[in-house]
Amino acid sequence: MKVKVGINGYGTIGKRVAYAVSKQDDMKLTGVTKTKPDFEAYRAGELGIPVYAASEEFLPRFEKAGFEVAGTLEDLLEKVDVIVDATPGGMGARNKELYEAHGVKAVFQGGEKASVAEVSFVAQANYESALGKDYVRVVSCNTTGLTRTLNAIKDYIDYVYAVMIRRAADPNDIRRGPVNAIKPSVEVPSHHGPDVQTILPINIETSAFIVPTTLMHVHSVMVELRKPLTREDVIDIFEDTTRVLLFEEGRGFSSTAQLIEFARDLHREWNNLYEIAVWKESINVRGKRLFYIQAVHQESDVVPENIDAIRAMFELADKWGSIRKTNKSLGILK
Ligand code: NAD
Repeated sequence: MKVKVGINGYGTIGKRVAYAVSKQDDMKLTGVTKTKPDFEAYRAGELGIPVYAASEEFLPRFEKAGFEVAGTLEDLLEKVDVIVDATPGGMGARNKELYEAHGVKAVFQGGEKASVAEVSFVAQANYESALGKDYVRVVSCNTTGLTRTLNAIKDYIDYVYAVMIRRAADPNDIRRGPVNAIKPSVEVPSHHGPDVQTILPINIETSAFIVPTTLMHVHSVMVELRKPLTREDVIDIFEDTTRVLLFEEGRGFSSTAQLIEFARDLHREWNNLYEIAVWKESINVRGKRLFYIQAVHQESDVVPENIDAIRAMFELADKWGSIRKTNKSLGILK
């Protein structure tokens, strides 16, 4: 029996998760919601995905355009086992009541507070804690990126300091900025450290800047080590870590532009780079301090986590069974 999955909010994350669900043999994409009949709604229709109005109030927009919807969100909730809430940050918490009323499990995204769910989730770090749960929050793109690499070296960590250089907007977003400035987050330490701590019990402090780019985030990470580790050890550990890839500047990966070009060369859908990209040359140990720099494709790194979260919630597979299955279905390199 396949788990029936609905997607509420068919935007940047929602449409990628919908695609990923459609690639699984133990899940079925039952439908997605839209607030308006724009090109994304028509494209979903062309792909054979049933489109539901996000609520009754949006129905007139579809009627006016002659776009036939399969019903409203409430109708979709009657047909699914789990809903992936990929609505704008904060809206998921308001939707939760509706999901509860329909007895449907829900996966929330990183724009929600941790309290929206029973557990915050990054598959390779805490898959087991989501087993059988009804409400799981896949953490943000930045937190997922930090957690993937820090989890791999957690036994060596005394203290982590990380600086987040965040993309200003996603490529299709014309509302956000800045377009010609660097905007520091004056909340120091930033919220990213405590968010990592919802999954990993480590000491971590972070600060963040927003810069005018749409491609990826970059993190500069410094770790105070509590036991010795060499540069070669770290390279070996990251080479052995799923959903983390090492890239060499010496091979032409001198910026986020080449990383995205690499994903395009792989013919990845939407040039998704699901893996966290660590610059190999940036990995260095000086005494008791480890340094490395990594890049995060904000539009896609959380997508495999949504799939694994669903598997954990329905106890369809154990941790590595699920991670391997998801990786294979999405062409994740390791
Ligand atoms: P988005 O704006 O691209 O997509 C949100 C979608 O929800 C849009 O299609 C919008 O029309 C739709 N929507 C708006 N109101 C709605 C409603 N009432 N009911 C149903 N749908 C509604 O946003 P996104 O970037 O995909 O973010 C979704 C969630 O994922 C947020 O929690 C965000 O923090 C998180 N997230 C985003 C990124 C990223 O970089 N884009 C990365 C990781 C996590």
